[in-house]
Amino acid sequence: MKIAFIGLGNMGGGMAANLVKAGHEVHAFDLSPEALARAQESGCAAFTKVGEAVQGVDAVVTMLPNGGIVRSVYTDEVIGKAPTGALFIDCSTIDLETARAVAALAHEAGYEMVDAPVSGGIAAANGGTLTFMVGGSDAVFERARAVLEPMAKAVIHAGEIGAGQVAKMCNNMLLAIHMIGTCEALALAEKAGLDPQKFYEISSKSTGYCWSLNDYTPAPGVGAASPADNDYAGGFASALMLKDLRLAMAGAGTAGASVPMGEHATRIYETFVEAGNGGKDFGAIFQTL
Ligand code: NAD
Repeated sequence: MKIAFIGLGNMGGGMAANLVKAGHEVHAFDLSPEALARAQESGCAAFTKVGEAVQGVDAVVTMLPNGGIVRSVYTDEVIGKAPTGALFIDCSTIDLETARAVAALAHEAGYEMVDAPVSGGIAAANGGTLTFMVGGSDAVFERARAVLEPMAKAVIHAGEIGAGQVAKMCNNMLLAIHMIGTCEALALAEKAGLDPQKFYEISSKSTGYCWSLNDYTPAPGVGAASPADNDYAGGFASALMLKDLRLAMAGAGTAGASVPMGEHATRIYETFVEAGNGGKDFGAIFQTL
């Protein structure tokens, strides 16, 4: 297939490279010349205009920072320039309203679109082991699956358009909440006189088990290996967690859902990021306790 890939940053760079490895002809575009040069090194054809990159393609994949950019790229540069019938796949993590609005505009102009945000960080993007949560009709999902598989460990049909973004915001809100809870429990154990390693050994096999404790233990030198063992470098940046929490809070507002723990987690990450910790792994909340 001929696939245009727009947004070749930390995530998109590795994803586009995996499409090339799967034998696709990948037309790459990014505003950053460095990102574009890296994509070229991994076998993509580099373009200097979106409108040129999308000409004659079967599918357009986007991996962009936020909803405003996704909207402007599709409305100003993709819709009307890609061939009618081309499949649009937005893998960015964005707000639900924008995801639905852009898909509606694409549909009116004769294109099919899915939202397909991912779980898994840069290592999973490079390794082709992302989990995609896809919103769109059954038939369009099947078309999207063929494009996504070389980049994926799992491609899951979440439901109608927007359902991928709903799954992503709910998953990451839950992740933030159990990460903060795990940090609190580890700090309390230590302050109350229990060796945190012993707490890990007990709770990871008891009802307190969860991914944050069992697989990504946020206390240095305790439990599973994680960025905590490397001064919270690498991993999933607190600023990105805050972005996802804000999307979840906006989504909760639109849906009229009550999310008191999500609101509290958002405030905790806001304070942490405003204090200059946005680049630290999100498990670094442990340091504040
Ligand atoms: P990034 O900032 O590294 O990459 C974004 C790229 O988009 C950059 O190269 C930038 O130059 C490019 N870009 C910006 N505006 C553009 C435009 N108008 N046209 C073309 N290119 C443009 O970000 P990232 O870490 O790759 O994240 C991308 C998306 O994936 C975000 O929505 C993020 O929330 C989501 N995500 C990231 C991770 C992660 O661990 N980094 C994990 C899951 C999901």
